[in-house]
Amino acid sequence: MKQQVHEYIIIGSGASGSIIAHELTKAGADVLMLEAGKRFSAATFPDNELDANAQLMWNGGMDASADASTLFIRGKAVGGGTIINQCLLDRFDAMALDSWREKSGLPFFNSHDLATHYDAVESNLSLHHMEERDWNTNARLYVKGFEQKGFGWAPLRRGQSNCGTGNDCMTCLGGCPRSSKQSMLETFLPKAEAQGLKIQSEFLVREVIHGPHLVSIAGYHKNVATTLYAKKVILASGALGTTELLLRSRLQDRLPALGKGFYCHPQWMTIALFDELIDSHKGAFQTVKSDEPRFRKAGFKLENVFAGPIAIGLLKPGYGFEHQRFMRRYRNMACIEVAVRDQDPGTISLNKRDRLTINKPLSDVDRQKAENGNQLVADMFHDIGANEVMTSPLQIGLHLMGGCAIGNDERTSVVNEAFQVHGMNNLYIADSSVFPDAPGINPSLTIMALSHQAAASILRQNSMQSATSKPTREAVL
Ligand SMILES: Cc1cc2nc3c(=O)[nH]c(=O)nc-3n(C[C@H](O)[C@H](O)[C@H](O)COP(=O)(O)OP(=O)(O)OC[C@H]3O[C@@H](n4cnc5c(N)ncnc54)[C@H](O)[C@@H]3O)c2cc1C
Repeated sequence: MKQQVHEYIIIGSGASGSIIAHELTKAGADVLMLEAGKRFSAATFPDNELDANAQLMWNGGMDASADASTLFIRGKAVGGGTIINQCLLDRFDAMALDSWREKSGLPFFNSHDLATHYDAVESNLSLHHMEERDWNTNARLYVKGFEQKGFGWAPLRRGQSNCGTGNDCMTCLGGCPRSSKQSMLETFLPKAEAQGLKIQSEFLVREVIHGPHLVSIAGYHKNVATTLYAKKVILASGALGTTELLLRSRLQDRLPALGKGFYCHPQWMTIALFDELIDSHKGAFQTVKSDEPRFRKAGFKLENVFAGPIAIGLLKPGYGFEHQRFMRRYRNMACIEVAVRDQDPGTISLNKRDRLTINKPLSDVDRQKAENGNQLVADMFHDIGANEVMTSPLQIGLHLMGGCAIGNDERTSVVNEAFQVHGMNNLYIADSSVFPDAPGINPSLTIMALSHQAAASILRQNSMQSATSKPTREAVL
């Protein structure tokens, strides 16, 4: 039986996979993308918070660490995490890149070398700083608190085209019905499809088998067992997804660093109740961030933030009347998040029942950073007149990073400087799993920049290979 062999298969359609698909198809390559989640569009995103959580997130947004102390949220849809994220797009600073260079031993982690890739990605995105006249009251209170304390702040850079002013669509975290948020579905994927990319959604990959000429992929397409073949495979399933796939493919003996070095920028929300209406749900949920060297050094950052009523309800401990009293004041709430640059990593593994297991206890050092940040936010809210302040005990991980670190030492990394899995020339990774540590900065723009760099490296290597051997589009299996 003749079975088609694709030139490239990309597993995962988020920040990393979409950029690589765009670059490879631009060069004329044959690319198939597989995605476990469904495909939605601006017209078909779920129209309520409950359905959005259930349909756009792995396990309904309820993945937890082994000790249940941290909730991890990750996207499961064509577009990956970019469908449910806030699309705040920052470049890394020297502090983050110096640390990566030191940990990985790779000299290209510096702002000069990465600038080409950041520039290329940014040129395809609409980026926006909210004008002060468009801020909501939550953002204004944040800046008031910061200025009263003498802390530095800056506007967040948002990937958006036109969010309008004062709207209360509230749906950034559940897809964007306005086609404004610069998710992969609005930016790189349509361009890649116009260049020939094929996408199979609802394809859950379970295993990859690497051979010297081919990689086979086993999984389920709409619950039907399916095997596909490609000359080259790019894993772009995110920190948890990519690491899980390599673990399921039984590669831990060949890759001693697999599953190690997992980081998540653990974060906490503090909600303050004011007498006046704040209406944090109107307009952009996130507008301003800390720009304070003392916080950067201390290992945390602050942003104004808000969410729909279900998410806010989850943040408040307790039951019954007390919970009801709190939630009745939804329109009086202001909110700030503290995200910690975690220095002590966790691990990703499969347990005896073959289930994904994430061990990420918070070390004393990281806990202290959180306490310092949360105390500062509580003080700030009291100073500007809040009559009640609640720091939620719920610990959340949204920036999931590591598990397949990049580096030049096979004992401490999984991927080499050409983004190939060590010892497996036909398998590449450039997604959030390759992060050598937690940068303490919103990660997705850098995931895209690294993926842009990886695509160039893949094309270079393959043009060198095809100069020495003539590839065939089909193989007899
Ligand atoms: C609520 C929220 C808000 C966030 N806000 C921001 C922000 O403002 N700025 C920022 O920089 N970052 C933000 N992030 C983080 C950011 O979205 C992620 O870091 C980024 O999307 C990760 O990119 P990735 O390509 O590594 O993986 P993803 O974007 O997660 O893509 C991986 C894809 O692979 C698919 N997949 C996984 N396993 C398999 C499998 N076995 N078979 C087939 N497909 C599979 C997944 O379904 C997913 O679609 C936020 C995240 C969340 C959850």
